Amino acid sequence: MTTIMRKTGIVTDPSYLDHIPEANVPEQPSRLKRLYEALAENRQMDHLVHVPAALATSADILRVHTPEYLQRLSNTHGREQVVLTPDTMTSSGSFTAAMAAAGGFCAAVKAVVEGGVDNAFALVRPPGHHAERSRAMGFCLFNNVAVGAAYARRVCGIQRVLIIDWDVHHGNGTQHAFERDPTVCFFSTHQYPHFPGTGSFTSTGRGPGEGYTVNVPLPKGYGDGEYAAIYDTLLPPLVEAFRPELILVSAGFDTHRLDPMGAMRMSDDGFAVLTRCVMNLADQSCNGRLAMVLEGGYHIDSLARCVTGVLLELSDQTHQRVSEWTDTANQKKVRYAVTRSGHVHRRYWEN
Ligand SMILES: [Zn+2]
Repeated sequence: MTTIMRKTGIVTDPSYLDHIPEANVPEQPSRLKRLYEALAENRQMDHLVHVPAALATSADILRVHTPEYLQRLSNTHGREQVVLTPDTMTSSGSFTAAMAAAGGFCAAVKAVVEGGVDNAFALVRPPGHHAERSRAMGFCLFNNVAVGAAYARRVCGIQRVLIIDWDVHHGNGTQHAFERDPTVCFFSTHQYPHFPGTGSFTSTGRGPGEGYTVNVPLPKGYGDGEYAAIYDTLLPPLVEAFRPELILVSAGFDTHRLDPMGAMRMSDDGFAVLTRCVMNLADQSCNGRLAMVLEGGYHIDSLARCVTGVLLELSDQTHQRVSEWTDTANQKKVRYAVTRSGHVHRRYWEN
């Protein structure tokens, strides 16, 4: 019998299945349906704590989005279909799902900050990191991770939040939400050039937020070892300098080698390794306080397996050894990312 070292919260909710885009959109309810089934069948998941998904309040949403945009989305409630962008549309249940997704992540943040759980993963949809202040984008309605970070700052009294985004796509909406804010640091690895086109090494934040946006755009073909080495090299000095009181992760699984939306080479285990990297950082800086929220991941069986692996790691039922993975990295690929990022950010961060 494995000793359970950490209490891990999960947020699940049936309302997340009621956001139903057209069939040609890859972001479908089946993603979560398969995942929830896999969790229900797995006895090791019995150790997790269910954190109820409250609906976000208007105030929660308005810390990140405009009143006009909130109104526009609330007007879609009960309507069969409203097309917001060519790939982002609502069904009658989408508004409730989106409010429960943003609110579910706030509930996860609250549980972690108040200490009811050690860490948490909000298994929500629609995803969020492409959503901009006043518009939907890339399957995203409200920016869940940004709403959660603002909630942590304004409601929970957290002084500094680090957001890590490992989705294969750049979190443009998250970057824009905090690019002028030195209290929220945004670190993103993403395939580049790729949708949405933002996230170059040289976008580093604006005004008082300059230096607090850290983009690591990567050519296609990066795998577990390279990701682990990049995280293990770039993040520890950043965390040491920034001293976050809470770490949030935009956890996308579309860097998986089987994913139809990306061209990266991660395996199922790689996500557990990245999780351990981030847990080590959270242990160093903020008593392990860590909350993740689901972003992309469009190969349905891989998504279920990878999230299960992340949950086992978060709850200490498995324990990945990061160095064993960084040893397998293609050093040339790692050096490219680390050197370019170091060159840009040296002036902002000591070391
Ligand atoms: Zn993505």
